[in-house]
Order: sequence, then C-alpha cells, then structure tokens
Amino acid sequence: MKTFFTPGPAQLYPTVPQHIHNALICHIGSISHRSQEFQDIFKNTVDSLKKLMNIPEEYYVFFHASATEIWERLLQNCVEKDSFHFVNGSFSDRYYKAANSLKLKPIREASDWGKGFSFQKTRIPASAEMINFTHNETSTGVMLPLEEIYRFRKSHPEALLTVDMVSSAPYVDLEWKQIDAAYFSVQKCFGMPAGLGVLILSERCLEKEKQIREKGKSTGTYHSFKAQYEKAVKNQTVETPNILGIYLLGKVCEDMLEKGIEMLRNETNIKAEKLYTYFEQHPTYRAFVNDVRFRSKTVIISDIPDGSEELMDYLASQQMIVGNGYGKMKGKQIRIANFPAISMQDIDRLLKAIDDFAREK
Ligand SMILES: *Cc1c(COP(=O)(O)O)cnc(C)c1O
Repeated sequence: MKTFFTPGPAQLYPTVPQHIHNALICHIGSISHRSQEFQDIFKNTVDSLKKLMNIPEEYYVFFHASATEIWERLLQNCVEKDSFHFVNGSFSDRYYKAANSLKLKPIREASDWGKGFSFQKTRIPASAEMINFTHNETSTGVMLPLEEIYRFRKSHPEALLTVDMVSSAPYVDLEWKQIDAAYFSVQKCFGMPAGLGVLILSERCLEKEKQIREKGKSTGTYHSFKAQYEKAVKNQTVETPNILGIYLLGKVCEDMLEKGIEMLRNETNIKAEKLYTYFEQHPTYRAFVNDVRFRSKTVIISDIPDGSEELMDYLASQQMIVGNGYGKMKGKQIRIANFPAISMQDIDRLLKAIDDFAREK
C-alpha cells in the first residue's frame, strides 16, 4: 500500500473509500440534481462544513469545479478594476495573472520564494476593491499569520478580503467576521478525489456583484454569484454538479467533527513540529522557510542540496510518495503534505526511510 505525502492530490482521508462504496449503493451517480435527495445532501454538506469550520450562518457556500475556477469567479463578480494580490509563490501568482487575463488592473506585493511579507510596510492603494491572501502557499511552504491578514480589515474597510485556504482548510481557524471570502479545493487537506472547489462568502460579496451588474457590466453566466445564490438558497446548483464530491465532502466533515477539530489541529501541530525538528537536526537537509513565523504547518518543504530525485526514488521504492520541489525548485527540494490523512506513524515511517536512504548510499 502506497502512502501519498504529496500536497495535492493527496493521501485519501481514511474513511473515503467506504463512503465511495456507500455512495454507489445509494445511487449517488444517478440521482437528479433537482431531487429532494440531492437537496438533502447539499444541505447536509453545507451544514457540516459550517459546523466544522465555525462558519457563521449568514455566510454562503457555493460549489465550483476547482480553486482555479474560484479565482476567476471572485474577480468577475467582485472587481471592476483594481485587485491587490500578495504574491509569494506559484499559486498566488496564478491568481494575479488571472486578473491580468480578465483585463483588470491588478497590483501585487511580491516576495521571494520561502519568505513572508513585511505587511506593515505594504502600501495598498485606496482604489483596491479586493485584497487577496494565500494563507498557505503550497509551492513554497509559507503560511501567513492570520492577525496580519485581519489588520487590513481596519486599514482598508472598503475592500473585500479573500483568503486562499486550499492547502490549509480545515486546519486553519479563521475568524470569519474579519474576511469576506475564503475557498479551498477538496484534494488537499480534506483528502478527497479532486474535482470540487468550495467558496465561502459574505453578503458583502453579493452586494458588490449587484453593484457591478447594475452598471450594465457582466459578472459571468452560469456561475455569476446572482445565479449561484438563487439556486443555493434552494439547496441546489445551477449546473449538474459534482454530486459525488459534494456528498463525500459532507461525510468527511462529519468524520472530522466526530474526531474533533481541536484534536485534528493539535495532531497537525505535533506532526509539523516533528518534521521541522528533524530537518533542523539533519546534517545536510534543512527547512526551506527560515522564519518560523511563516512556516507552514500543513506543507513542509526541505532543501535537498545534492538533488531530490534519488531520495524520492528511494522513498517510492518503500511505497512512500513525497512531493517534488514546485516549478523552479523541482529536483532541489521535497514537499511533504502534513494533512489529516497522514498519521504520526506515517511521519515516523517516512523519517526512518529518509535515514535509511542516507545509510544505504
Ligand atoms: C492546489 C492549489 C490551488 C489550485 O487548486 P485547483 O483545485 O487545482 O484549482 C490554488 N491555491 C493553492 C494554494 C493550492 O495549493
């Protein structure tokens, strides 16, 4: 049995195979998305997710195909001209580039890979309609402190604040009143097959969409927030959605609720600590992110100075698949997903195998 320490797609959450099996028995692949059965599934998933992540009643949950789609929807629905982006890796940069492709006028604060930001020094123009943060940059292993994000609520009360929590939800414990939208896709921390993006958003986002629309501008077609809202209040979606994905997400949320979100977060912290301590004590490897304030708890990256390919091959021969360095870091690093599906025993096994590799070389 292989274990995937890859940061997405990732190791499945342990209960997922049984839920897929049950889904087949319940004909989830065949039921109508207009049926009462589907509406019950939709409602159960939204309720369970809200409970798990402590999301206020008045926030909406919209389902998309991916986080990549959500970038486009946020920009189309909530930005007329200026969006502001904190860019410190590949994913945050792709979001910024999406705004360029849509012919908006995005502005970015860029930092080097592996680094955070000097938030206090960042100047954001008053014209910025939306300020976008990537809570956990999966390409660089940088996690932003939430207090730094919340600070912009006070300094830029007019702007909508969005948080990419794709590789940190549900570990991240957001104070929802401080932000307007946050989103994830399910193939990372939730340990599910890919193909579902989840956007949680405030009334302010819907108001902004309305303003733009009433100026005669397009906010998109089937996934305009207006179209999605009108269906979501009836526990439905505009299109035929990923019903299996929506079903599985509800079930995984229930399982995580049963385990306890505090337990899940504590275990994540303890496993992360173990990994960072290991790399700190290693003779040649070292954690890529130097500044402990910005070290991700869910994606741990180590530099492998003599090249990561051989190590990755060895680990694969031991049935353990780790992530390669991302983009320009390919072959120079390994990335280890510290997601809820990965147990402490998995981490112990991985670190022992890394030791064995050095010994056998
Ligand atoms: C994986 C990832 C995305 C893209 O998710 P898709 O589901 O592939 O669209 C966006 N942001 C971050 C931080 C990611 O890790």
